[in-house]
Amino acid sequence: MRPKLSQTFKSQLIAAFAAMLAFLFWHFLLDYQRQKAEGEAYLEAASYGSLLRAELDRELNSLLFISNGLSSFIKVYRNELEHEKMQAILADLWSNAHHVRNLAVAVNYKLTYVYPEKGNEQIIGIDYREVASQWPKVKLAIDSRQGVLDGPLDLIQGGNGMIYRFPIFVDGHYWGIMSTVIDTHSFLQAAFQNVQNPQFSFAIRTADQKRVFHGDAALFSQKNIFIQQSEVPNGKWEWAIENKKSHDLPGRSLGIVLSVLLSLLVGGIAYFFAQERYYLSEGALMDSLTGLPNRRLLESRLNYAHSEAKRDHKRFGLMALDVDHFKAINDQYGHDVGDEVIKAVAVRLKSNIRDMDTVSRLGGDEFVIVVKDQLSEQGLVKVATKLLDIFNVPMLINDHEIAVHLSVGLTLYDPLSDVTLKQLLKQADMALYQAKHTGRNTYSLWK
Ligand code: GH3
Ligand code: MG
Repeated sequence: MRPKLSQTFKSQLIAAFAAMLAFLFWHFLLDYQRQKAEGEAYLEAASYGSLLRAELDRELNSLLFISNGLSSFIKVYRNELEHEKMQAILADLWSNAHHVRNLAVAVNYKLTYVYPEKGNEQIIGIDYREVASQWPKVKLAIDSRQGVLDGPLDLIQGGNGMIYRFPIFVDGHYWGIMSTVIDTHSFLQAAFQNVQNPQFSFAIRTADQKRVFHGDAALFSQKNIFIQQSEVPNGKWEWAIENKKSHDLPGRSLGIVLSVLLSLLVGGIAYFFAQERYYLSEGALMDSLTGLPNRRLLESRLNYAHSEAKRDHKRFGLMALDVDHFKAINDQYGHDVGDEVIKAVAVRLKSNIRDMDTVSRLGGDEFVIVVKDQLSEQGLVKVATKLLDIFNVPMLINDHEIAVHLSVGLTLYDPLSDVTLKQLLKQADMALYQAKHTGRNTYSLWK
C-alpha cells in the first residue's frame, strides 16, 4: 500500500519545489544581467582602448617624420655638411617638434651632432658600440634598415625618454644614425590630453620586457580588464584598460545571496498558499478514512449548534462513542480489517442518525455525534439505545464475522447554563469513561 503523505509534508514539497524554481530563475536572471553588463563594460573599455591607440599613433607619427626629413637632407647634402649648417637644421627641426629633448646624429657609430648642445655635452663623441644599454637597439635599427623605438628608458643625460633610432643609408651603404630623444612624460600627456575620461584608467608596458612606464602596474593582474597591443616602430606595447563601471556591478556571491533570499520568500509564500488551499478544501474538514466530518468540522458544527441553541432556547445532545476492545480486533484480524471495521462503524452510525445531526470521527476508534433539537435526557438515551441495538448485529468484514460493540457517553446542553463547548465535550468524554467502566456495550449519562 502506498503510504499517505501528510498535508504538511505535501506543502513542504510544494514549497521546496517553488523555492528551487525561484532560485534557478533568479540566479539565471541575475547572472545573465551581470554577464551582459560585464560584456558591455568590456566593450566600452575596448573602444576607449582603440581611441587611445589612435591618439598615441598620431602623436608618435608627427615626431617620426622629423627623422625622414633629416635623412633626405643628409642624403642630398652629405658632401657639404658643415657643423654650423647641421646645427641650424637640427635647431629648426627641434623648434617645430614638441616633447623632443634633443636630436642627435651619429656619423657611423659616433655621436657627432646634438641639439640643443647645452646640457647634452657629455654625450657628444660617444660611440654607440660602447654603450651596452643602447647598442642592441641601434644595431637592430641598422640591421633591419628601419626605425626602432627604444625605451622608455633612463637617459645618460638624466630623465626618462624614448629614443627613436633612424638609420641613414646613402647609396645602399650605412652612413650613420639619427636619434630623436622624446620626453616620455610630456609626450604621453600630450597624446592623451584630449581623450581623458574619468570612467577609465589604463597602464602601458613594453611587450618584450613587461616594463610598465605609464599608469598603475597592478592593472595588468586585475580581473575584468581589457588588454590590447599596439605597434610601435620595431616593437610592441601592451595596454591594460579598466572600465571603473565594472566595479559597481553586483558580485556573483551577492547574486547568490539575493537568489537564496528570494527563493526562501517564494518558498514561504508557496507553503502558506498550499496550506491555505488545503484548509479551504473539503479534505481539511473530512476524515480521510471514513469520509465523516473531522474534529475541525465538528468544532464548527458545534459552534453553530451552540449559537442556535442559545438563540432559540433549545437544547442539543452530545454523544461520545468508542469501539469496545478495538485493539483486540486489530490484533486478531490485522490493521487493514481494523480500518474496514472503523469504516463500517461510520456507515452504521451515519445511516441511523438524522441528516441534520453530525456524526464525526475524532480519530482512532472514537466518534462524536451532535444530536440537534434534543429536548430531554430521555430522548437522548433513546437515540443511544437505538445505536447500541444496531451494533448487536455482527459485521461481515473480509469474510470475517466480527462482533463490534460501542460504549457511549451522553450529555445535554442547556442554553440556560454557561457551560462552554470544551466543557461539554469533556462531560461527554467522562460519561463515556463511565460507560466503559460499567462494563462496555452500554451508555452513561453525564450528571
Ligand atoms: P476500549 O474498549 O477501552 O476502547 O479498548 P480499545 O482496545 O478499543 O482501546 P482504545 O480505544 O484506547 O484504542 C483504540 C486503538 O485503535 C488504538 C490504536 O491501536 C487503534 N487505532 C487507532 N487509529 C486506528 C486506525 O485508523 N485504524 C486502525 N485499524 N486502528 C487504529
Ligand atoms: Mg476503543
